[in-house]
Amino acid sequence: MDIALSKRLLSLPPYLFVELDRKKAEAVKRGIDVIDLGIGDPDIPTPQFIVERMKQAVEYSPYHRYPSSNGMKSFREAAAFFMKRRFSVELDPDREITSIIGSKEAIFHLPLAFLDHDDIALVPSPGYPVYHIGTLFAGGKTYYLPLLEENNFLPDLNSIPEDVLRRARILWLNYPNNPTAGLATKEFFKDVVEFAQRHNIVVCHDAAYSEICFDGYSAPSFLEVDGAMEVGVEFHSLSKTYNMTGWRIGFVAGNEKIVNALKTVKSNADSGQFEAIQDAAIAALTSDQTCVKKMCAIYAQRRDALAASLRSAGLKPSVPKATFYVWFRAPDGHSSQSFASFLLEEAGIVATPGNGFGGPGEGFVRMALTVSVERMKEVGERLKRVLCR
Ligand SMILES: *Cc1c(COP(=O)(O)O)cnc(C)c1O
Repeated sequence: MDIALSKRLLSLPPYLFVELDRKKAEAVKRGIDVIDLGIGDPDIPTPQFIVERMKQAVEYSPYHRYPSSNGMKSFREAAAFFMKRRFSVELDPDREITSIIGSKEAIFHLPLAFLDHDDIALVPSPGYPVYHIGTLFAGGKTYYLPLLEENNFLPDLNSIPEDVLRRARILWLNYPNNPTAGLATKEFFKDVVEFAQRHNIVVCHDAAYSEICFDGYSAPSFLEVDGAMEVGVEFHSLSKTYNMTGWRIGFVAGNEKIVNALKTVKSNADSGQFEAIQDAAIAALTSDQTCVKKMCAIYAQRRDALAASLRSAGLKPSVPKATFYVWFRAPDGHSSQSFASFLLEEAGIVATPGNGFGGPGEGFVRMALTVSVERMKEVGERLKRVLCR
């Protein structure tokens, strides 16, 4: 039988990290002590009190049945409590919040509710790949908004051509930003609200890193800004905030009509998240957030150690105020790919080439703060050996 794949599947972009993954596996096999700064997955375990709550919840038999796809009321109430305490944003847990099986799932599904054939999604580049992939699977078209260093990694909304604006239905944003560690100001969010109202575009703000902040910085919510509730929603994930990437839980909050549209897609696609996981998530969202402060303190120490290491080898990293990524230019003469290969082959260090997140990421590399301070110092020793010889 001739098993033919859909055009949709065949049109997926190539996975740019294939070559690097292969080289990394080879190096590990050769016995090289690889320092992996490539993956955006926390190495620190989920806080114990959340795990304990899960242990109890898993025994509770009513949770063994189908959940509702928009989440338990108590979970949505906990999400509303979190948004009020953290951002002073008031939300109706019944109408303005829905549970999601991690942000990735919801980012993938949301375009199905708003894009018809050839409608446009505005997508930041470099950026999280799923904004484009979800658009592609929904039959839409992606128009990339470059995030440039000279614009503080904010998109230039005034640069979008008129014919694109006419067909644009969704705008994706993500601050604090992966991979650039760029930050949004409230002024920028105000401009976004005005832009969205003028052109009738649904704003989807991915706030996966809202809680990973340092040096007294506190990331704003898009929903804090006047008018935001009329034009958009925000995607919140417990993955990075509570080291729960494996648990698959988050929520979307904001405009009722947009939340409702997502609920409709999801009620047809999935049956929600295991209620025991929602129960554990309630413990996380309603806790005093000491665990988050401790985690951020650890990331800040690692960040400082990595920045010192990079500088000692003549590189010029900027020091992020949020996210667990350091995004910096490869040295002169190197592309993203050639520098990432050089780091792996010469120093046993895995970094992610910036062009893998989109064209404007060319020339940059991303390093994740997911190894210890000692290993970050070792990064400095190795880099000095190979870059300063
Ligand atoms: C990690 C990440 C996500 C995915 O989070 P999940 O809730 O685990 O699916 C979404 N957006 C960005 C920018 C991320 O880095």
